[in-house]
Amino acid sequence: MSGIKLTNVSKSFGSFKVIHGVDIEIEQGEFAVFVGPSGCGKSTLLRMIAGLEETSGGQIRIENDDVTHREASKRGVAMVFQSYALYPHLSVFENMAFSLSIARRPKAEIQQKVKAAADILRLGDYLDHKPSQLSGGQRQRVAIGRAIVREPRVFLFDEPLSNLDAELRVKMRMEIARLHRQIGATMVYVTHDQVEAMTLADKIVVLRGGVVQQVGAPLELYRDPQNMFVAGFIGSPGMNFLKAKVINAGQGFLRVELEDAPGQPFDLPTRTGVAAGASVHVGVRPEHIGLGASEGTVTLPAVAEFTEELGGTGYLHILTASGAEMTVECRDSRPQPKEKINLSLRVPEMLAFDSEGRRLS
Ligand code: ATP
Repeated sequence: MSGIKLTNVSKSFGSFKVIHGVDIEIEQGEFAVFVGPSGCGKSTLLRMIAGLEETSGGQIRIENDDVTHREASKRGVAMVFQSYALYPHLSVFENMAFSLSIARRPKAEIQQKVKAAADILRLGDYLDHKPSQLSGGQRQRVAIGRAIVREPRVFLFDEPLSNLDAELRVKMRMEIARLHRQIGATMVYVTHDQVEAMTLADKIVVLRGGVVQQVGAPLELYRDPQNMFVAGFIGSPGMNFLKAKVINAGQGFLRVELEDAPGQPFDLPTRTGVAAGASVHVGVRPEHIGLGASEGTVTLPAVAEFTEELGGTGYLHILTASGAEMTVECRDSRPQPKEKINLSLRVPEMLAFDSEGRRLS
C-alpha cells in the first residue's frame, strides 16, 4: 500500500513559486529522505505533508486517504523538529505524555505508551528529568518519543540532528535507523547531510529549485544518476567533472577526448544521439581514480595541491593543466603539495553529460 502519495503538488508564497508540480510516492513502511541544496523546498514539502503549510495545488494522500485540506492534527502524522520543541517546565514523562493527556486518554494507557516509547529510546531512567537536565541527544530522543506515543501513520523529521555534535549525530542516526526497523512506520526525513541520506534511506528524493530531479534507492542514485546535478550531489566527496569533446558518435557509442588528456580518445556507451564536435562533461568519482598511469585507463597529468587526511584514506585535491579542480581518493601513498603526478581514470566508471547536464552515457 502507498504510505504517502503526492500528485502534482505545488506551493507558492505570494507570487514566488517554490514547489513545482511534484509527484512522489512513498510506500507504507518506507524510509524516504528528501535532499537538495538550501532553499530547494525540502522543508516546505515536508510541512505540506504535515499540514503545517497549505498546498497551492495538487493532492496529498496518506494511506490512500486524501488529506490535502485536512488540518494537521487530523492527518495521523507526527513531526520531529530540529529544535526539539520540548516544554521546559514539564518532565520527560510529561513531555512524552502531552498529546495523550490533551486527548484525555486513560491514565493506564498513557503510562503504558510512554513506558513503551521510553524503552525503545532507552529513556527509562530519565522520565523524571526536565529537558534542561538532558544532553542534546537525549532531548532529541524525547522529541522522537513524543511522536512515537501518538502512534502516527507517518513520522516526519525535519533535520532532526542538525543541532548535535558530530559524534552524537552518528549515534542518533543509528538510533533512528533502529527505530525504523523496530516500528516499521512510514518515515520522511529532510536533511542536507549526504551521509544521513545514504545510510538511512530506502528511497532518496533529490530536489532542486522545487523540482524533483530523481527518486531512487541510495545506490541507484549513486551508480545511475539521471543528470549531472544528481551525479554531483549524491556521493561524498562529489563526482569530478572534466570538459571533453565528442570526436565521433556512432550507434550506441560516443568517442570522447578529455581536454586535459589529448590524444587519448575512449568510447563510452550511449543511449542518446549527440553530434561529433559537441562539448560534453565527463564525470568520474574520487574512488574511481588511481595514482600513476595504468593500462586500460585514461592518463591525466595533474599537480597535487593538498590532502585531507582521514586515516585509512585521504582525499587528494589536484589541479589539471586546464585548471580544473578534482578530488582523488588515495589509500597507499600521499603525493606532496606541488608534486607532478599522473592519474588513471577508469573508463567503465565514467559518465558523460551534455552541455545542459543531461546524461548521455
Ligand atoms: P534549507 O535546507 O535551507 O532548510 P529547504 O530546502 O528546506 O532549505 P525551504 O525552507 O522549503 O527550503 O524553502 C524553500 C523556498 O521557499 C526558499 O526560497 C524560502 O526562502 C522560501 N520560503 C519558505 N518559507 C517561506 C515563507 N513562509 N514565506 C516566503 N517564502 C518562504
